[in-house]
Amino acid sequence: MSNLTSPEFFEARKVPLGGVRGVRVDRVLPQRDLPTLGAWCFLDQFGPGFAEMIVLPHPHIGLQTVTWPLAGEIRHRDSVGSDVVLRPGQLNLMTSGRGVAHSEVSLTEGVHALQLWVALPAEATPLDPGFEHHAQLPSFRSEGIDALVFMGALGDAESRATTYTPIVGAQIDVTDGTIPLRPDFEYGLLVIDGAVRVADVELKPGPLLYLGTGRDEITLAGPARVILLGGEPFPDDLVMWWNFVGRSHDEIAAAREQWENQDTSRFGIVAGHGSDRIPAPVLPNLRLKPRKQPSRNQ
Ligand code: MN
Repeated sequence: MSNLTSPEFFEARKVPLGGVRGVRVDRVLPQRDLPTLGAWCFLDQFGPGFAEMIVLPHPHIGLQTVTWPLAGEIRHRDSVGSDVVLRPGQLNLMTSGRGVAHSEVSLTEGVHALQLWVALPAEATPLDPGFEHHAQLPSFRSEGIDALVFMGALGDAESRATTYTPIVGAQIDVTDGTIPLRPDFEYGLLVIDGAVRVADVELKPGPLLYLGTGRDEITLAGPARVILLGGEPFPDDLVMWWNFVGRSHDEIAAAREQWENQDTSRFGIVAGHGSDRIPAPVLPNLRLKPRKQPSRNQ
């Protein structure tokens, strides 16, 4: 137990959301010194108590979107023809492959939700887009622990959601208990409700606690509801700009141009919105560069 990474806090920051009237969310990932956590490359928290979430059609490349509501209901529509109402305890997983578009609109007031992205490995970026709704997810239970596993596996509970790299995402209700971890995974924790004592620190709602690699279990003292994210450290340096994840400026610029040109061969059509869509911002007047993975991932 001597090579453990010291727990490190990463504060969330308030970010205005394009295409939504004056709405701000808490952006937990990416961080300058933590561009990815496993293949998790993006985490926004809406709410709690978000009055209205209206995210008009917008495109994605190079990623999977993971939508995890904690309160309220969200309607998801996309360019592969999905139209699904998502409720707490259920998972929406959309895989962009080469390109997809979607919209998300709250159906109830008081929404609280996590919007996560998982970076695709290069070999999965040319695939066809796809969407999965998982209404039933496996539970991992042990003394003091009741977890819903939405991506990957925790102990003997394995989600059926499609993954492309070794990864885990789980919602854990804990009083006082221990969860099994994989030493080859890096992990982070986000508290949704309550507070936990973990790795000799106190974690409350707000920041992400980075736990690094090398652990085969961890003890959590609540009571709390926490989100556990983890995975094999992601090897690639990624270019992230707007709703796109790629590996070069040119790849991002091409996707932007195709969205602006309403190239339906790449991004399809999200039915039910007429001509409403989120326009892409202007590219910065410089070449986008990949965010370097920190040395801990080398
Ligand atoms: Mn999206």
